[in-house]
Amino acid sequence: MLIYKKICLKCNKEKPVSEFYKVPRNKDGLHSYCKECDKIAVSEYYKTDNGIASLSKYQKSEKGIAAIRRAAEKYQKSEKGIAAIRRAAEKYQKSEKGIAALRRSADKLKSEGYYRFGNGAISNMRQGAKKRGITFSLNVVELKEWWNDTSDICHYCSSTLEQYVELRNYVLNYKGTNPKIRKFMRYFKNTRHAAISTMTIDRKNNELGYEIKNIAKACWVCNFLKSNFFSEEIFKKIAPEIISELREAISEECS
Ligand SMILES: [Zn+2]
Ligand SMILES: [Zn+2]
Repeated sequence: MLIYKKICLKCNKEKPVSEFYKVPRNKDGLHSYCKECDKIAVSEYYKTDNGIASLSKYQKSEKGIAAIRRAAEKYQKSEKGIAAIRRAAEKYQKSEKGIAALRRSADKLKSEGYYRFGNGAISNMRQGAKKRGITFSLNVVELKEWWNDTSDICHYCSSTLEQYVELRNYVLNYKGTNPKIRKFMRYFKNTRHAAISTMTIDRKNNELGYEIKNIAKACWVCNFLKSNFFSEEIFKKIAPEIISELREAISEECS
């Protein structure tokens, strides 16, 4: 005999069998409460101590963990979930931890040369070139190869990177009054410039744009000083004198 309707033991209403959950162990294979009443009863149960305890036990079980994971995956793909994830990401990026993580990933890019010869350097130089109306024809592959094949020695004053950093640190920390040293302080007024700890990329011939044949590694002082005023040839003669004058002034201070 087929039953099409059943009376709910809770609300006493007669409802179609589709309104009852299936329970195989019951005689008629259906729950004694209708779905609506069952939902209420379940939510009431999970407010009791027993309910809370059994829920927490379930959540720690293998089955429970798998169910939670499935629900989370479903939620993360829903519109609501995507919006919540975006909100959380924005909040995280503003948090101390998020800022630190962002800084770490920026440091990683930096250590990989992103801003010296990678895409960061390319886009910076291209932007600067565009502003000044200079042609630009470098790509990241040739620039990287050039950078790695060119030693870290200033094309103009012949300082090594270590020598340059040492001079810079001395000038940056100088508290004395010697004008021969003090006049170099203006090279590092801008904190971004003071932070330069690698060789910079200079265009040898100011008339030409950024192309492999026209670039050289230069220390920041030479790059700044040469600017657009000196030709490569002339500046190669001037730069060593300027730097050795600074070195002499420093060694006089130190003696
Ligand atoms: Zn009912
Ligand atoms: Zn130099």
